[in-house]
Amino acid sequence: MSRLIEVAVPLPLHDSFTYAVPDELAEALGMGARVHVPFGRRKLVGYVVGFLESTELKRVKEITAVLDEPPLLTSKLLELGRWMASYYACSLGESLRAILPTGARRVRGERRGRRAEQSDDVGLAGPQPPHELNSWQQQVLAPIEARIDRGGFEAFLLHGVTGSGKTEVYLRAVHSTLERGRAAVILIPEIALTPQTADRFRSRLGAELGILHSGMTLAERHDVMTAAAHGEIQVVLGARSAIFAPFRNLGLIVVDEEQEPSYKQGEKPRYHARSVALMRGTFEGAAVLLGSATPSLESYHNVSRHKHTLLRIPERVDRRPLARVEIVDMRTEENRRAVLSPVLADALAQRLELGEQSILLLNRRGHSNYLQCLGCGELARCPYCDISLTYHAVGQNLRCHYCNHARAVPRECPQCSNPCQLLRGVGTQRLEQDLAGLLPSARLRRMDLDTTARRGAHRAILEEFARGDVDILFGTQMVAKGHDFPGVTLVGVVQADGGLSLPDFRAAERTFQLLAQVAGRAGRGERPGDVYIQTLCPEHYSVALAAAQDYEGFYERESVLRRDLGYPPFARLVGVTGLGPDRTRLNRSMQELSRALRAACAGQAIQVLGPAPSPIPRLRGRFREQLLIKGGLGSEGKARLLREVAAREAPGVDFQVDVDPVNML
Ligand code: ADP
Ligand code: ZN
Repeated sequence: MSRLIEVAVPLPLHDSFTYAVPDELAEALGMGARVHVPFGRRKLVGYVVGFLESTELKRVKEITAVLDEPPLLTSKLLELGRWMASYYACSLGESLRAILPTGARRVRGERRGRRAEQSDDVGLAGPQPPHELNSWQQQVLAPIEARIDRGGFEAFLLHGVTGSGKTEVYLRAVHSTLERGRAAVILIPEIALTPQTADRFRSRLGAELGILHSGMTLAERHDVMTAAAHGEIQVVLGARSAIFAPFRNLGLIVVDEEQEPSYKQGEKPRYHARSVALMRGTFEGAAVLLGSATPSLESYHNVSRHKHTLLRIPERVDRRPLARVEIVDMRTEENRRAVLSPVLADALAQRLELGEQSILLLNRRGHSNYLQCLGCGELARCPYCDISLTYHAVGQNLRCHYCNHARAVPRECPQCSNPCQLLRGVGTQRLEQDLAGLLPSARLRRMDLDTTARRGAHRAILEEFARGDVDILFGTQMVAKGHDFPGVTLVGVVQADGGLSLPDFRAAERTFQLLAQVAGRAGRGERPGDVYIQTLCPEHYSVALAAAQDYEGFYERESVLRRDLGYPPFARLVGVTGLGPDRTRLNRSMQELSRALRAACAGQAIQVLGPAPSPIPRLRGRFREQLLIKGGLGSEGKARLLREVAAREAPGVDFQVDVDPVNML
């Protein structure tokens, strides 16, 4: 009798299926290999997840091909896949597809995947000799190296201010890992957005480095993964999915800018690469190094729970001072209608005269209108959820996107009785007009989604800026990311409140992080930097503490709110978005689901909020409503609620489950 195997297929079906292996394929077949299987009328790629002695089934179909020989999926990655399936509520096949895409294979004739030494890019960083470590860097590296020496899992949180030389610490840790014959994975938020960071690793790690990013074809990715599986490379650098590099002897995982929301995958299985990194580190017995100037509340909280070891670098390299930050109150008469305040406009003109460079951030992320008082800066908020209310044209009221609380638009501000105003952020194009009018001789470059759509456009803009061919780089939060331009002495933030108006319990945290990040772009060279933050909410703690560059102060303040309101890291969240073409039917299913979930968790410290319209209430012809489950959800309780959700899916309505949601759109 031929061999029997268990195959997981990438469909939302929780079971794996039994297949037979014809003799001619038996020898090639290993655990974790991808195989072609007939499935109903279709042919699917599945993953071998078990071998069987016998079966009760009368008829068993045969697999038709083996795609990986030897398998690329390691046993540890299979284990990780099982964990992801149960934690993120998807099937094993779906989580394995995230780890090793079904379509990733070598296509004959296509050019080989890019390795570091084949890179044809102009280096943004230039050749970089290793730096002599300063004493702070030595101090934080010692416990990391000790752990790498001993082997075994340990999570470190490296909290180092902007410009403190964290990258150098990562590089040394990687070298120590390689010296001990083990491999390393380095995660960065988005390669296309931070080509400079990638270049720095490339110029120092050379041929041992494989790069994975979203701009590569599946075949190119496949080459890098094969090289990792076969030990031809020892380091992989990449965004989110690089966490799945199939090394067999992983010793270190670095997660740079660990607070970045882009580590969360938007589609099923909706995993968070930082959580997966910690889990993979546990399974592999590897060290995990999370780094940031503004750690997420989740990670910092894990330090106080003794889950992570905290390492600190409180000053910049060579004792360079942090930039001087000034808050510009936009509530004064003079400023109220202007995009650029006189003080920021003057500072820009002065830099232009001196031949120094500036960066301007337009913190515009909202899609919708919100209510803010121009007199005192107060934002209309939900009294229950403490998130900003969003204006809805239908009904002409303000609504909470978490609990659906609605209220009329007040005529005057409840705080200061000035008239209230519905606001919508200024766009980057408007800023460009104003800048051109104000400083006609300045060489301006805009960086936002429009100007960076073309492949390589992002890098081209940054290279121009690095060469000194641009005086003022301005745009959305892309300009705030980890760039290191020593010539920049001025940073301006046009509308710091844009982020605070988002209907998201992390709005304050995101604002703090973004302001601290962008402030960190100024004064990285010999000359000190100045930062101006324009805002209608100068007293808001996220703005004031970012200006003071006081991370601990922010953490304390924000922790109290999160604890009181039952938000992460003090409670768990699960979001359920319902989608459907028929609004009435969608709402009915969501109401039913909400009742069922409430009944299922009665008497427990769990709340079910909503249904409420999603911040994007309609997308591609489908209406969207959301529910939020919030509270002390253990893994068993969570599993029970998720079964409840799955059981209530009705024709014409899809439920999307998001465990630990990061973006509630
Ligand atoms: P961070 O990632 O913490 O913001 P970087 O790693 O970008 O900081 O380092 C900031 C700058 O300092 C870089 O230009 C880097 O080359 C330089 N640098 C790092 N370590 C040292 C050191 N020990 N001595 C001198 N310069 C250093
Ligand atoms: Zn609410």
